[in-house]
Amino acid sequence: MALTREETAARSEVVTRLRKEGWSYDRIGAELGLSGGAVQDWAVRVLRLPKQRVPRVSRAPVVAVPNRTCLCCRVPFVSEGPHNRLCLRCNRLESPSPYAPNPGGGTGRRVPVSRP
Ligand SMILES: [Zn+2]
Repeated sequence: MALTREETAARSEVVTRLRKEGWSYDRIGAELGLSGGAVQDWAVRVLRLPKQRVPRVSRAPVVAVPNRTCLCCRVPFVSEGPHNRLCLRCNRLESPSPYAPNPGGGTGRRVPVSRP
């Protein structure tokens, strides 16, 4: 932004006034046809104005609250949704790994069907 002395004076007057009125640099930039960042950089460098404080977004910590009672053991637990009706412990007991050996000792062979 190479400005003449007059342009610099005019811009500093406008930026200083609008900042005092509470305008953000983005809004001033939109008014002047510049980006908010460019206006802020210029104001900080030339006018020694303070940078605009960016409000911090504070997030409340996510706390898991038990919202369902387990159908199996009746213990309250954090459900993932309508499909999730068993607590983690019971869910594991209900559905063992598909790779777990058959507790009945099955060989995997088909049982011969007796035909009449
Ligand atoms: Zn349970």
